[in-house]
Amino acid sequence: MDLFSIYGQLGLSEAVWALGQRIEDGLRDRFREIDAVAEYNQAKVLAAMQACRIGANHFAATTGYGYNDDGRERLEQVYAQVFHTEAALVRPQITCGTHALTVALSANLRPGDELLSPVGLPYDTLQEVIGIRPSPCSLAEYGVTYRQADLKADGSFDYDAIRAAIHERTRLITIQRSKGYATRPSFTVAQIGELIAFCKSVKPDVICMVDNCYGEFVEPIEPTDVGADMAVGSLIKNPGGGLAPIGGYICGTKACVDRCAYRLSAPGLGQEVGANLGILPAFYQGFFLAPTVTAGALKGAIFAAHLYEGLGYRCIPSAGAVRADIIQAVELGSEAAMVAFCKGIQAAAPVDSFAAPEPWAMPGYDDPVIMAAGAFVQGSSIELSADGPIRPPYAVYFQGGLTWQHAKLGILMSLQKMTDAGLVAL
Ligand SMILES: *Cc1c(COP(=O)(O)O)cnc(C)c1O
Repeated sequence: MDLFSIYGQLGLSEAVWALGQRIEDGLRDRFREIDAVAEYNQAKVLAAMQACRIGANHFAATTGYGYNDDGRERLEQVYAQVFHTEAALVRPQITCGTHALTVALSANLRPGDELLSPVGLPYDTLQEVIGIRPSPCSLAEYGVTYRQADLKADGSFDYDAIRAAIHERTRLITIQRSKGYATRPSFTVAQIGELIAFCKSVKPDVICMVDNCYGEFVEPIEPTDVGADMAVGSLIKNPGGGLAPIGGYICGTKACVDRCAYRLSAPGLGQEVGANLGILPAFYQGFFLAPTVTAGALKGAIFAAHLYEGLGYRCIPSAGAVRADIIQAVELGSEAAMVAFCKGIQAAAPVDSFAAPEPWAMPGYDDPVIMAAGAFVQGSSIELSADGPIRPPYAVYFQGGLTWQHAKLGILMSLQKMTDAGLVAL
């Protein structure tokens, strides 16, 4: 059977496929650049695994307290080498990205300290962690105050406002690399480096933490290469490579990471406890695959931007923009288009392809939200997924794809469902 017969069975029309081929043909040079970054990052991860002398014995399961877990300790050394940090905490006991960030913040902020975000409002779930939206056990409840410097209208850093916001009690500065559900740009590592240098010039002992979610392996360097004291993220995004079924990481200075370990387990115990329960093969292998998986997702994002921009939809970032993360937003202009788009992503999934996503009320959101995800790992957003709140400008946020080929099919299916619904004419 030829390729097109299979695609036909999957519901893809020849017209949509042909448009996709034209778009892909125009992206050869761009994809070569992405492959070059992936090759560099693959070498970086491989070199770290070899330098840490990873052997098959390091995949063994530990239970109970998990004392002397050599496999766990070496995995953390591998992360520390890749991020060029003194230390790392990489654990299945960190349940998600929000948890990792919560550990990093609450470990390194004490009552009376102030937290500063120089890049505007942080990601939705962090707002309750900080206490911007009141919540039991927020940092605010423990006497940590919060201040924010908004970005300028063009999305750049407002250095005057940041200087004015830093004072004696400013202990930690949180910098979110990816835009999340905001419409501001995501930041490149170089931009983050400039911001950190500025903040440290104002207050040399301030701790700079980067929320690195969705940014890992997009570039050859990470925020910890440009002065970040901590980089924090989720293993069901880029660095888990699609294989990690849970987990989070914190890479940084020994002083910061030690405190995170004491916060995660208990004062006095720190990094010494935490059984791996047999999960280490997925963590190691996922991290090994992460550079190429991230590259595939990045190709998907760029392909989607070119496809939809060509059809007249506003894309953020725009098709030709420099990429800082794997997220692609497409403003579709109507609820019907959002539903059709998400149905296409779902229809292309290896799992739950028969389900049809519908907008639904979700806790924490004012508007109904639609989500498409047919993932091996529940909620995994390094796997092909799309979501968005049903409100103007009716933007879907699209990300992931364990392989470029799957990301491509998913995007083409999103367009197929939009054409089938009579929303787009090719
Ligand atoms: C996903 C994400 C988080 C939170 O991660 P969860 O794993 O969903 O808790 C935090 N910040 C940013 C920028 C994210 O993209």
